[in-house]
Amino acid sequence: MDTIASSAILNDGIIDGRLAARMVRKDVKQDVLSLRAEGIHPRVAFIRVGDDPASEVYVGAKVKACGWVGIRSEHVHLPDGTTQEELAGVINELNDDKETDAVLIQLPLPDSVGTKAALNLINPLKDVDGFHPTNLGGLLAGHGPLEPCTPSGVMRLIEMMGLNLVGKHAVVVGRSVIVGRPLAAMLARAHATVTLCHRHTANLKDHVRQADVLVVATGVTGLIRGDWIKPGAYVFDVGITRCEDGKLRGDVRFDEALERAAGITPVPGGVGPMTIARLLENTVRCARLVRGLQEPSIHRA
Ligand code: NAD
Repeated sequence: MDTIASSAILNDGIIDGRLAARMVRKDVKQDVLSLRAEGIHPRVAFIRVGDDPASEVYVGAKVKACGWVGIRSEHVHLPDGTTQEELAGVINELNDDKETDAVLIQLPLPDSVGTKAALNLINPLKDVDGFHPTNLGGLLAGHGPLEPCTPSGVMRLIEMMGLNLVGKHAVVVGRSVIVGRPLAAMLARAHATVTLCHRHTANLKDHVRQADVLVVATGVTGLIRGDWIKPGAYVFDVGITRCEDGKLRGDVRFDEALERAAGITPVPGGVGPMTIARLLENTVRCARLVRGLQEPSIHRA
C-alpha cells in the first residue's frame, strides 16, 4: 500500500485501539461538559434480556465507559423468558422517557424475542447503535445521523492512522447487518474499491490476497492465515471469540499476519475499545437529536 500510516496509535505494526479510544473519549468528555453547561446531561439505557455471560460483560464495559466521560447510564436487565410484548413495553417506555436520550438493546437476544422486531421499535433518534432501518438507510443514502458503532469505529481508526483509502482495494469478510454490510458502504463512501465476502464466497483466500485493507468479522477463530495477507496491508480484526483455554481470539492468525501486515489490530485491544468509544459519541449525538439541536461538533469518520 503506498499510503504509509504514521500515527501514535500504530506501533511496530500493532494498531493500539485502546489508545485511540482514549483519544476519542477525551473529546466526548468535553462534549458532555458543553452539553451539561446547557443543562443537558446525556443518559443512555442498556436493555439486556436473559443471562448470556458475554452480554453481561459487554454491558458492564459500556456502563463503565459512560462513567468515564460523565454520561449517565441505566442497565435494564430482563429475565430469560421475557416475551416480545414485555420487551416492547420496556422499549416504548424508554422511547417516551424524557430523561432517556439513547436506547441500546444488547445482542444477541434469546429466542423468545425477535431481534428485528425489537430493534425496529426503538425511536430512530434514540437508536444509539444505528441498527434501525431508518438509520441504516441514512447510511446508504450518504451520512446517517446515527451509524453503527463497530464499523464506524474501524473507519475512525483508519482515519486516525492517516490511511488514504482512495482507489485502494478493501476486502470485508462477513456481511452481517451490524458490521460487514455497513462497513462495506462506509469504505465505498471513502472511495475504496470494496469486495464483500461471506460464508458462500468461493476462494476466500484469493480475495483476501488482493486486500490493501482487510476487515474480518466472522466469529470464526483463526480463519484468515498469515500467508493470505498482502505484504504491507492493514488488517482490522473485528472477530472476538472466547476459546476453550479462556483466551479471547480474533478471526485472523495474529502472529503470522503481523509478519506481513503494515498494521494489524490485536484482539483484545483493537476494534473493541473503538466500538465503545463510538457508542459514547453516538449517545451525545442522540442527546442533541432528540432535542432537535444541531449536529454536535464531534467527529464523523
Ligand atoms: P454474524 O454471525 O452475524 O455474521 C458472520 C458473518 O461471517 C456472516 O456474514 C457469514 O457469512 C460470515 N462467515 C462465517 N463463516 C465464514 C467463513 N468461513 N468464510 C467467510 N465468511 C464467513 O456475526 P457478527 O455479529 O457480524 O460478528 C462477527 C464477529 O465479530 C464475532 O466474533 C463477534 O463477536 C465480533 N464482533 C465484535 C465487535 C467488537 O466490537 N469488536 C462488535 C460486533 C461483533
